[in-house]
Amino acid sequence: MRYALIHANVWIGYDTDEILENQTVLINNEVIEKIVPDGASIPSDFQVVDLKGQYLLPGLINLHAHLFGTGKPSKTLGGGGSQKALMKFVHSPLGKPVIDKMVKEHALTALHSGVTTIRSSGDFVYSDVRIRDKINRDEILGPRLLVPGPAITCVGGHGDGTFAVTSNDPQTLASYVDENYNHHVDCIKICVTGGVMDAKVKGEPGVVKMNLEQVRAVCQRAHDYGYQVASHTESSQGIRIALEGGVDTIEHGSFLDDELIALFKERQSAFIVTTSPALPLARLSPEITKLNDLCVYNSEVVLKGMIDGAKKALANDIPVGLGTDESCPLVTAYNMWREIYYFHKFYDVSNAFALHTATLGNAKIIGLSEEIGSIEIGKCADLIVVKENPLEDLKRLKDIQMVMVRGHLIDKPTYQNLPQVDEWLDSLL
Ligand SMILES: [Zn+2]
Repeated sequence: MRYALIHANVWIGYDTDEILENQTVLINNEVIEKIVPDGASIPSDFQVVDLKGQYLLPGLINLHAHLFGTGKPSKTLGGGGSQKALMKFVHSPLGKPVIDKMVKEHALTALHSGVTTIRSSGDFVYSDVRIRDKINRDEILGPRLLVPGPAITCVGGHGDGTFAVTSNDPQTLASYVDENYNHHVDCIKICVTGGVMDAKVKGEPGVVKMNLEQVRAVCQRAHDYGYQVASHTESSQGIRIALEGGVDTIEHGSFLDDELIALFKERQSAFIVTTSPALPLARLSPEITKLNDLCVYNSEVVLKGMIDGAKKALANDIPVGLGTDESCPLVTAYNMWREIYYFHKFYDVSNAFALHTATLGNAKIIGLSEEIGSIEIGKCADLIVVKENPLEDLKRLKDIQMVMVRGHLIDKPTYQNLPQVDEWLDSLL
């Protein structure tokens, strides 16, 4: 597997509009070996791929995704009898292969849409671990996956009854970290606050569920293993407890005051925005989203807090990352480009900064910036090709011409899209 990508316009992944025009990029197995102007001699054992002036970028990194769901609006995950029945099936011997098949399909869809790395955020019965292992054993050509196994929370916390394991006893919660470690996970996911779908009170989507002692017990055990801890956190009070307890990445986020900004800096934690579910759930008609009044109202609260908090974080040099929260209603596996577009549109950042955040910025947050996130010599060949310059219009990221993951080239990436969902989402652009 040796490739010479010629006539490439290269954007390397830094926060700049600069494009290196007419370049040849040599890929030797997994590694970017050389970046030279076109015309340089190419060793005969390299397969030449002519990009014809198309744009070569680092592969996209999605820091928050659940792999099980399609992204179609659904009432099932809002609780009740149908959710219980579904969960019973998921945990049955019959359910496992069905879940594994869905998880595989969504991971491949993400890859073919240009996402070469996914940090997942809680899936069922270690299906995330199994698909990661298949990819790492080269049985499937998939994205690089960092997986947490089941999320961990207290009784009644976000994900209780679905993708989380629960207890109120701090020692038991810590033992769930051991269990995930024994299943060879890559990181730990907890849920400090509730969420939009499980909120009971108007205006309070991020009710604090886990207490400081519980959060601390999980984080300490996780850090003993060298794991980062990500926490679903949708209120300011929740952020305080999460950061004081040792959480490394605050998922979704909320409004920040000076004290929280100081805490973020002291703990060197990052703020991960997921605009992809919040925006359509707040702004599309309830006939589409199938949400009740309470959920619509609370989605707007989450959206406002996320945008306001992330803007403050950016202004204070706190790392802000991007994830889609794929599997939420209206979040498909192939829509990372929308998250990047929303970041530019709603958070007052340039196109270059938005794309930099989804590549090198996200890589830094998960400690992988030495390996991935930019097109530099010695780095892993996780690359995408788009027809026209995405820095002029981020919507062009939807038009992926090629994907390379760990040096494997996918010449004509394809995936099944959901035209109706796309049409609804396009109305928000
Ligand atoms: Zn999530």
